[in-house]
Amino acid sequence: MIPFLDLKTQYLSIKPEIDEAVLKVLESTQYALGSEVFAFEEEFARYQSAEHGIAVNTGTSALHLALLAAGIGPGDEVITVPFTFIATVAAIAYTGATPVFVDIDPASYTMDVTQIEAAITERTKAIMPVHLYGQPADMDPIVEIAQRHGLVVIEDAAQAHRTEYKGRRVGSIGDIGCFSFYPGKNLGAYGEGGMAVTNNPEYARTMRMLRDWGQEKRYHHLLKGYNYRMDGIQGAILRVKLRYLDQWTEARRSHAAHYDRLLASLDIKTPIAMPYSYHVYHVYAIRSSERDRLKTALHKQNIQTGIHYPVPVHLQPAYADLGYQSGDFPHTEQVSTETLSLPMYPELTFTQVNTISEQVRNILNTLKAA
Ligand SMILES: *Cc1c(COP(=O)(O)O)cnc(C)c1O
Repeated sequence: MIPFLDLKTQYLSIKPEIDEAVLKVLESTQYALGSEVFAFEEEFARYQSAEHGIAVNTGTSALHLALLAAGIGPGDEVITVPFTFIATVAAIAYTGATPVFVDIDPASYTMDVTQIEAAITERTKAIMPVHLYGQPADMDPIVEIAQRHGLVVIEDAAQAHRTEYKGRRVGSIGDIGCFSFYPGKNLGAYGEGGMAVTNNPEYARTMRMLRDWGQEKRYHHLLKGYNYRMDGIQGAILRVKLRYLDQWTEARRSHAAHYDRLLASLDIKTPIAMPYSYHVYHVYAIRSSERDRLKTALHKQNIQTGIHYPVPVHLQPAYADLGYQSGDFPHTEQVSTETLSLPMYPELTFTQVNTISEQVRNILNTLKAA
């Protein structure tokens, strides 16, 4: 069986270092925040070319705090995309603001920047692009439009650790960048985790207070805050794993290039890395009009796949109150019926990529003949 994800193999490859780091935290009793988390904040912020890092318990919390720090609340509008994981939109809803969608560009699967201006109203406060699958959104026009209209840019970089846009690491191109360390992400904790990074000291200070009950110092609450602190153990684990992220990212990119070569001649679309993009392939998504049959047949061959995402956010029952309908975002809707994520993780082998690609070829040939 070729699994969609293999977290165990990665753990075994670094087990002695991880085990030692975890035991050190257990001995230290710094279980919530603490010196390992603070060291990780510095190291990861620097890694993403940002001055400040605020470690939190999930990527969703990072998005929530970023919006709050930017002063977003009820009555405000935030422009984002419906082709994303639900958390992007949930974080906007948590603040009481209204998510406003624009469609994606069908080549990059990220925000279609030509649609942003038409979506701006006097209530718009922020633009939240999503660096989906590990590919950056087209940030230059987004930042330019935001500056012209006085809007804040919050990057959802949950799938984009190490991703670059025109040679710059994401997260520090907009005003605040939000990362997730959910176990399956490119940099994954052994539990939940997230971080907001920024070059703005005021935003940093506000988010630092908000994640820890709005305290300026202990039991002095300046703001109505949250319990969004990162675990000490996760900080220690992530420090160890960050040292491998360059090498793991290179492995993903080399698997992607290998898939690209083997799948090139088939009647499917392989991912397009845009010219401005250093794509980190959090997800390697192909597109096929035969997606569902392909998925079922691969499963029969013991190859697990995923779909990111089968239902766009504007068609989710939970967000029906936003008032969108089927047909509102044609590219998003089309891609959601065709996208199929093949196994992708650093520990995947050359032989496995060969096997998967060969099976995709065989299945497509059989479907064509039928
Ligand atoms: C994973 C993810 C999130 C949320 O991160 P959590 O750590 O799971 O809360 C937000 N946005 C996107 C695009 C994601 O993939």
